[in-house]
Amino acid sequence: MSRKVQAIRGMNDILPGQSSIWQYLERTVADVVQGYGYQQIRFPIVESTDLFKRGVGESTDIVEKEMYTFNDRNGESLTLRPEGTASCVRAADQAGLLFNQVQRLWYTGPMFRYERPQKGRYRQFHQIGVESFGMATPDIDAELIILTARLWKRLGLLDHVELQLNTIGLAVSRDLFKAALVAYLSEYKDQLDADSQRRLDTNPLRILDSKDEATQRILENAPNLEDFIDEESQLHFDRLKQILTENDVPFTINRALVRGLDYYGKTVFEWVTTHLGAQATVCAGGRYDGLVEQLGGKSTPGVGFAMGVERLILLLEELNLVPESAQAKVDVFLVSLGNQAELASFKLSETLKDTDSSWTVLRQCGGGSFKNQMKKADKSGARFTLILGEDELAKGICQVKNMSTGEQNECDLNSLPSYLSQKFEH
Ligand code: ATP
Ligand code: MG
Repeated sequence: MSRKVQAIRGMNDILPGQSSIWQYLERTVADVVQGYGYQQIRFPIVESTDLFKRGVGESTDIVEKEMYTFNDRNGESLTLRPEGTASCVRAADQAGLLFNQVQRLWYTGPMFRYERPQKGRYRQFHQIGVESFGMATPDIDAELIILTARLWKRLGLLDHVELQLNTIGLAVSRDLFKAALVAYLSEYKDQLDADSQRRLDTNPLRILDSKDEATQRILENAPNLEDFIDEESQLHFDRLKQILTENDVPFTINRALVRGLDYYGKTVFEWVTTHLGAQATVCAGGRYDGLVEQLGGKSTPGVGFAMGVERLILLLEELNLVPESAQAKVDVFLVSLGNQAELASFKLSETLKDTDSSWTVLRQCGGGSFKNQMKKADKSGARFTLILGEDELAKGICQVKNMSTGEQNECDLNSLPSYLSQKFEH
């Protein structure tokens, strides 16, 4: 026997038993965001490597060590997208949708990062992202957050996630802060963890995220970003907090929240949960007014976020929040005996689908004994089984078995659609 080919580590199949939960989540998100006027945008999974180097930032974890980058047959460097924002900006700007316009966009699909696979962290994972362009005022930041709160409410998650909020100011504020931080930390350089030592030169803000205890102790007396925030960003932040408070969206201020990507400024936020261990963030985003220009477009403000679909699904499952209506179901199972009845069962199946397109009607294919077919009907979880044999056919009827009560009735084939409609109403 030849060896079976296995999936790539950290890249998961979504099997039939799971896909209905995915569809439920995707449906719910689409419904909520489209209700706020967001339109879906779809862009390729592969882009020029340069897009992410410039868009996400050379000194971020993503670009430094997580990208799937390869040369195509022409020697051009391509990368499997590690996130959606840079691609979204590239696509929208290329189509002339950004400068001097207002856009509300969303996307969904797989992202790729070379990380250590574990619960809630994979190498192919899925994000649903929402981005808005052309609006510089804090009301759009608030709209995005309020929209997310509505989504959590719809999914039953609102009590299980917490909104963390921070402002990281304009680039000038961050530059002043970075200089002060580097000056302070340089004194303790040899006591910092290795990653943080390296980041002193490349991306000092990320040192704040360090999980190392010694580094965190040193950080206790470090300068605070808060003290360097410019007035414009502070006013922006104050107004955002006011709108959220007025709309009953609670938040906690997390001064350590700086986000890993280069493009953020002013608002940053994360929705976190205590139910998923270290992979606590289910949704993260912020404002990125400089990104469009950084990617060669004309200056356009932007703000957005991305949700981790796998983490949300883990959370829904863990909390038992997947509604029964989201599971795949079979309404009618058709059993037929004999050639003529088999032919008639096709007609019957199509008539039922014409009657109500939401019914799931399954036909037993390949025939088999009555007993065997009934076993399959049972296993399918169908609500009703219709039995069509030569006798029934001759009389223009079929047997209708209610699978939960075991009750069986004869029903005229002509009145079957209305009979079932009535049954399904209850
Ligand atoms: P983390 O700190 O967990 O690594 P991140 O800051 O790298 O997250 P973002 O780039 O902000 O994540 O992506 C937005 C969301 O996508 C995250 O909050 C998370 O829910 C999800 N996500 C990110 N990386 C992964 C991954 N490797 N596997 C599964 N979900 C992920
Ligand atoms: Mg990460």
